[in-house]
Parts: sequence; C-alpha cells; structure tokens
Amino acid sequence: MSQNLPLSGRIAVITGASSGIGEAAARELAEQGAAVALLARRKERLDSLAADLRAAGGRALPLAVDATDRAAVAEAARTIAGELGAVDLVINNAGVMLPSGVEEHRVADFEQMIAVNLTGVMRIVDAFVDPLIAAAKRGGPSDLINISSIGAHGVFPTFAVYCATKAAVTHLSRNLRAELGPRHVRVSVIEPGFVNTELQSHMTDEAAKAWIESARRQITWLSAADVASTIAFTAGLPRHVNLQQVTIMPTQQV
Ligand code: NDP
Repeated sequence: MSQNLPLSGRIAVITGASSGIGEAAARELAEQGAAVALLARRKERLDSLAADLRAAGGRALPLAVDATDRAAVAEAARTIAGELGAVDLVINNAGVMLPSGVEEHRVADFEQMIAVNLTGVMRIVDAFVDPLIAAAKRGGPSDLINISSIGAHGVFPTFAVYCATKAAVTHLSRNLRAELGPRHVRVSVIEPGFVNTELQSHMTDEAAKAWIESARRQITWLSAADVASTIAFTAGLPRHVNLQQVTIMPTQQV
C-alpha cells in the first residue's frame, strides 16, 4: 500500500462495518490508505470484508462486538491498540431504524433504537476519546465522525423515537465538538437522507414500509459509497479544518 494516499498512517475504527454505510466507509478508508478496525455483530460478514481489504493490500481487523456492550467495546479498544496501533479516526456509524406508531407499544423496538443509536454511540466515544486526544497531542489529525440522519431535523409519523435518537446524536456531536475541538480533535456529524442499504429491511411497520418503498420508486437514493466518500473527504482535510455538520441528501429528496 502506497504511503502517499490521503489517509496513509491513519488507524480507523468503523462501527456497523458489516453492511451499508459502514462497509462502504471501510472500503473507502482502506483504499485511501487507512488501517481499519471493523466492528459489528455479524462476524462472518466482517471476516469476509477484512479478507477483501487484505487481498487489496490493506490492513483490516474484524471484531465481532455489540456496540451497546460496554465491556466488549472496551476489550475491542484494547485489541485494536495492540494489533493495529493508536486510533486517530472513529466512524461512529452503527444504528437501527424500527419505526412504529407510539400507540402500538413496541417498547422493545424503542429501547433497541435508544440502546444502539445513542447509548452505543456513547460507548464508542467513551472507549476511544483518550486515543483521539492523544493523537491530537502528537500533532496529527484526529477525528470523531458520528453518523446521524436528516431525521435529526425532520418530523415523520411513526419515526418519533428514531428521529429523537438522531437529534440526540447531532446535538451530542456539536456539544462534544465544543469540548474536544479546542484540543484539536475534530468532531463531525454526517446526516444523510435516503441511502440504499439494509437499514429499511429490518422495519416491520406496514405503513412506514409503504412510505419508504414509495420514496424509493420516486427518487434516486444515495448509495452507501456516496456517504463513504464524504466521510473520507471529511477525515482527509487539513488538521485545522473541521466539517462539523454535513447534511447529504439525494438531490430529489425534499
Ligand atoms: P445497515 O443496516 O446496512 O447498517 C447498520 C449497521 O449497524 C450494520 O453493520 C449492523 O451490523 C450494525 N449494528 C446494528 N446494531 C448493532 C449493535 N448492537 N452493535 C454493533 N453493530 C450494530 O444500515 P446503514 O448503513 O444505512 O446505517 C448506518 C447508519 O446510517 C445508521 O446509524 C443509520 O441510522 C444511518 N443512516 C442511514 C440512512 C439510510 O437511509 N440508510 C439515512 C440516514 C442515516 P450487525 O447487524 O452485524 O451488528
């Protein structure tokens, strides 16, 4: 792997790397020279992605981890430090979207969204904030990139809890930036509109599925690679430049 790529020497952690935006981000960051730690629950998907990246000359470490499990995330952080080195780029991306009307009382789905989309995001921040600050102290770039959603700003029937978790991720990111930016750690939040991934396939609410399918027919959605290239661009900027909040939309989505 060439030393002159935009992200050569960077050590990245990507959550939700087993599919969609996380997988595409892993491919893009590795192609741009970063070593990548791949976190998600589906081990076989991570192993296969790591094999692809290594075959292309990259460094990849697959780790089956539930992002909501504090001890497992802490253990992953230790393994990454030992096997890849000091982390300076974190893509906090794992998420679930399980809409339903509040009167249906699908409490387990609400709790799962809060656990993964919000508590999980904080588990990752907690596990990697020290290496990010240390990387910044050494004088290099250091990035925490959280994946939120246009849902952070939108109002959609049956998506209340999902949108609330994403509004929390956006606001969390801006507040963390106030804390970490003065110490040269860049905090960015990326808020995509519709992206073609597995995310929608886990939904069970019929009305929400019909709305999503109609949107899929009517407009050209983003690809995971579109979002991945935005993530890589954000991480590749000069150290003093922080894209703090990026809303990336399909052109036709209003
Ligand atoms: P995918 O369903 O393809 O990816 C979600 C990823 O999260 C998977 O890799 C999944 O892996 C992982 N994940 C889910 N639960 C956990 C958990 N408990 N621990 C660890 N990993 C977990 O969807 P996307 O790529 O679309 O989603 C990525 C992010 O982008 C999400 O935060 C989503 O909210 C956001 N987003 C997506 C949009 C879209 O239209 N697709 C629009 C706006 C934002 P595994 O099951 O193997 O654990």
